[in-house]
Amino acid sequence: MIALVKQGANEQQIENLLSWFHSRGLKTHVSVGEFQTIIGLIGDTSQIDIDLLEGLEIVASVKRISEPFKNANRKFHPEDTVVDICGLKIGGGHFQVIAGPCSVESAEQILSVAESVKASGAALLRGGAFKPRTSPYSFQGLGAEGLDLLMEAKEKTGMPIVTEIMNAEHLPLFEQVDVIQVGARNMQNYELLKELGRLRKPILLKRGFANTLQELLMSAEYILSEGNQDVILCERGIRTFETYTRNTLDLSALPVLRELTHLPVIVDPSHAIGVSRYVSPMALAAVAGGADGLIIEVHNDPPNAACDGAQSLTPEQFADLAVKIKRIREAVGQQMKIMNVGIIGLGLIGGSFAKAYKAAGHTVFAGEIDESILEFAILSGAVDEPLDEDTLRTCDLILIALYPRAAIEFLDESARYISEDTMVIDCCGTKKNICAAGFEAAERYGFSFVGGHPMAGIERSGFKYSKANMFKGTSMIVVPPYYDDIMFLDRIKRMLAPAEFGRLTITTAEKHDAMIAFTSQMAHLVSNAFIKSPTVLEHKGFSAGSYKDLTRVAWLNEQMWAELFLENRDNLLYELDLLLDSLGKYKDALIEKDFDHLQALLYDGKRLKEEVDRR
Ligand code: PEP
Ligand code: MN
Repeated sequence: MIALVKQGANEQQIENLLSWFHSRGLKTHVSVGEFQTIIGLIGDTSQIDIDLLEGLEIVASVKRISEPFKNANRKFHPEDTVVDICGLKIGGGHFQVIAGPCSVESAEQILSVAESVKASGAALLRGGAFKPRTSPYSFQGLGAEGLDLLMEAKEKTGMPIVTEIMNAEHLPLFEQVDVIQVGARNMQNYELLKELGRLRKPILLKRGFANTLQELLMSAEYILSEGNQDVILCERGIRTFETYTRNTLDLSALPVLRELTHLPVIVDPSHAIGVSRYVSPMALAAVAGGADGLIIEVHNDPPNAACDGAQSLTPEQFADLAVKIKRIREAVGQQMKIMNVGIIGLGLIGGSFAKAYKAAGHTVFAGEIDESILEFAILSGAVDEPLDEDTLRTCDLILIALYPRAAIEFLDESARYISEDTMVIDCCGTKKNICAAGFEAAERYGFSFVGGHPMAGIERSGFKYSKANMFKGTSMIVVPPYYDDIMFLDRIKRMLAPAEFGRLTITTAEKHDAMIAFTSQMAHLVSNAFIKSPTVLEHKGFSAGSYKDLTRVAWLNEQMWAELFLENRDNLLYELDLLLDSLGKYKDALIEKDFDHLQALLYDGKRLKEEVDRR
């Protein structure tokens, strides 16, 4: 059963409703969407009186849902689930390829396959250590030793590991495994599923070869209802009367599951078809059909594989397939185009953009004067290659993450190498000068320039503190060259999508600088000045949250902020005068011991804070 909450209901009202449901022995799942809050009710809802519920002021409507799966149901979890595996995302538009041999056979074998599939673009490595074989006389996998070999391959290649579990007793051995696979034969091993539900680790749940989609979702439900929300479903072929293929790949599972559930769905064409030469066409069909990923068996020597050689691609065949997968993803519009992204400056912001775009599957080039940082960024996988005149020409998007003066210098030197269909966005803390320079360069060389300022950051600076989710849910201030072109604004939005901003704030350079003088620059200036009282040396033991809040940004990068303050001198002086004037009033009231005046000043401040927070 689901209850739609009316727009405008406040937190307390929702809280009361939830307590009422809980008192009826029901579990609740609350999904707060942009426009609607939905409460999913789990448990025996037969005793709930729908009319009574609908009579409540905050309830818009109540529906009984017939599907027996609740947690997996898209009806009360409308947004796609995005599963994060060591920073790699699957679902919600994020696509990943898992590749590797059916079973781990030796250190050399697993490492050589891992290195070759990684070079072709696979993000995760598969390999079975515990193998479910039809015959007890067949190779059963290397067991614990196989897991060790997988870990070695992970250490050497950086690829997260996907491997199958057959027995919950083996769980201690799987601690370092990144994604635990439940094979087709264990899809309905409910005790195992419950155990996996208690973990906080992604589970790849394969469809049994004689199971319906509803049964697959009910198995997912076993994991989800225990608390583990990171479930990836996998269509891997079902048994039919057909004998030319090992199973029949049920690609209709893709749109059906997409409708029924928010969980990511990937496809395993290898086990579905069982014949290597049929694998690539069906992998491409799965991509076109909207799969969130693929899991494909690749072996360095298929004729001599210990298991499933007949369906394994060679590394060369896989490389060929990987190129086609990219093309199909671009061709079927709903998937994003793989962009070439140039990042100038690998500090906190540039580094975070590099990681975000890379995690979303784009190609990232970077320019950075400190060569050791650039090298480190390439080694750590945040950047593909250094940015030079040639790669600059190929960029769809260029993000300039430098201080304002250096950003203008970059444009002076490099604008002539930028192609006409490139979008250039800067990330400077002030907008007037950089936007003037950017708009002019864009006009001259034909590319598009947009001023930008991400409202994200932490007190620390530098690449080593950068992270892929730095911008998630935050606001990006955008200063476009013109405001009446919806298509252009939409293009900006799509190009920034991998950073996962929560909103774009469209404004002018003048408004930006005036606002930022207050919301950011004054906060830094005041914090930095505040801490200069000699009393600070003894603050320990005498300070709490208010001290911490006021001094948080005193720790700043003085070179950058001095430059930003001077760039925005007029706006900052205006705000500073207001503050000094305001402080003077408090001081006067204190000198005059004027209780009423002081209380009135404080009351006004409090009222204003209440008012602006309510907006
Ligand atoms: C496997 O992935 O190697 C495997 C055994 O798959 P399935 O459970 O789909 O047969
Ligand atoms: Mn296999």
